[in-house]
Amino acid sequence: MQQTIAKEITVTGIGLHSGAAAELRLKPAAENTGIVFRRADIAESVPVKALYSNVVDTRNCTCLGDASGNVISTVEHLMAALAVMRIDNLLVEVTAPEMPIMDGAAAFFYDTLRQAGTTVQSSPRRQIKILKTVRFADDAGNYVMLEPADEFSIHFTIEFPSKIVGHQEFDSVITPEIFARQIAPCRTFCEKAQIDYLRSVGLIKGGSLDNAVVLDGETILNPGGFKVPNECVNHKVLDALGDMYTAGAPLIGRLTAVKTGHYHNNRLLKALFADDTNYEIV
Ligand SMILES: [Zn+2]
Repeated sequence: MQQTIAKEITVTGIGLHSGAAAELRLKPAAENTGIVFRRADIAESVPVKALYSNVVDTRNCTCLGDASGNVISTVEHLMAALAVMRIDNLLVEVTAPEMPIMDGAAAFFYDTLRQAGTTVQSSPRRQIKILKTVRFADDAGNYVMLEPADEFSIHFTIEFPSKIVGHQEFDSVITPEIFARQIAPCRTFCEKAQIDYLRSVGLIKGGSLDNAVVLDGETILNPGGFKVPNECVNHKVLDALGDMYTAGAPLIGRLTAVKTGHYHNNRLLKALFADDTNYEIV
């Protein structure tokens, strides 16, 4: 059966790029609503469904938007928590063009949603069962692929020149226990040089060592180090989980990703839904 949250939640935080405070309200929604985002700071703004077809930017995060140019960016960490919590219907109101970054991961959202609890609704849940292998590769040969399988799993590989990251792999089914322990705490990561550049062009004003892992060559600048072993690849798994939930329903299949990101995830879903013999609704 479909689920929504048992009670409304309000939290405040700052946007990663703007550094501005934003309020986030999560409200229960009726069955068959799906996950819907709305800009609460714009009068009469149109709600935008969290669907791959409403993704308007994938450069640094997954950004939803509508025809009139309203955008809500960095939806993927909340979406991952919603996917694992099996929340089908929710209204997400945010008072800024970007979601508050909170812990830079999904642990805060996951804990907050668990505290609110879920309500079981009266319509059956729809799931998307993968019937054929669907693949998207970029010009460099990096690729993402969905294949038929009995349950949802992710195999993710990253390769970075610095030895502190190097070659990392994650390969597992996604259970709430695995998510809570190994994935939800994993923060966005970046190179210090990248940060210096982004700061110079007025971005990441809300970024800090509290919400991102910052690497400087072979050194991690965060005083506490990594939160979990392989935090970098596990954060990519977190992003992929959130992005795959923009399919509009949980997927039943195996996701394989090699050195890819939000752009590839979105292209993969577009390829999946371009041919209705690729999947069936169960
Ligand atoms: Zn992320």
